[in-house]
Amino acid sequence: MPELPEVETIRRSLQPLLVGREVKTILVRERRLRRPVNVRHLRKWIQGYRITALSRRGKYLLWEMDNGSRLLIHLGMSGRLGYFAGQEELEPHTHLCLCLDNGAEVRYRDPRRYGCVQPVAPNEGCGVLDGLGPEPLSVDFTADYLHDALCGSKRSVKTALMDSRIVVGVGNIYANEALFHCGIAPQRPAGALSREEWKRVTESVIRVLQQAIRKGGTTLNDFRNGLGEPGFFQADLAVYDQEEQPCRRCGRPICRVVLQGRSTFYCPVCQK
Ligand SMILES: [Zn+2]
Repeated sequence: MPELPEVETIRRSLQPLLVGREVKTILVRERRLRRPVNVRHLRKWIQGYRITALSRRGKYLLWEMDNGSRLLIHLGMSGRLGYFAGQEELEPHTHLCLCLDNGAEVRYRDPRRYGCVQPVAPNEGCGVLDGLGPEPLSVDFTADYLHDALCGSKRSVKTALMDSRIVVGVGNIYANEALFHCGIAPQRPAGALSREEWKRVTESVIRVLQQAIRKGGTTLNDFRNGLGEPGFFQADLAVYDQEEQPCRRCGRPICRVVLQGRSTFYCPVCQK
């Protein structure tokens, strides 16, 4: 599932190609995504308008249009957004094509159809973005914030980091990795961490996300940026999906447990 670095990688790869372009026509081949695509609103608010910016909030990508509307895209489990210069053959599971004024197309492909593509009218709020926590790469993501927000919480520190109401964009891969690098055990109750430990956690989350963005994201199965290129952070994964592999720091085997239904990887020696 794409997390913040993957969505940011897609944003950076598409931004120079899309900004200034007009969306000429929109072809919807399959409406049944996580929520049905509103074709009438796509035609009314997006088609015929120019893209002024590509932004991101958590794992959501936002196309800002010159009429004040926005196109909100979430890639779900298996969504892919790709830029195609010409008449390339359509891949299976291509559900939408947004044709630009230079003849190129942006295609949304999603075999599992858990993603969403939602036009938002000018001056209308994006309901799904309400109540989201701060961006981890913003000044609001601090040790004091986490310490106060999770004061008394009995749930695990890893589960808390993956809660988008606490902080957006940190999914299973980067929560596991960040906790390894700061030496905090993932199953520790969030409410039991000191401010000093939260400082280590925040610094580690920021470092891991920045490094993953620099490497173009993590490609385990099918992640590609907007130009179809894979990421390279998978070679840097220290614990995620490394069960029984030797820990990079102490050489003891990495353990796997399940927390809130999600595979959790850690070194029982290096993480306390
Ligand atoms: Zn270790």
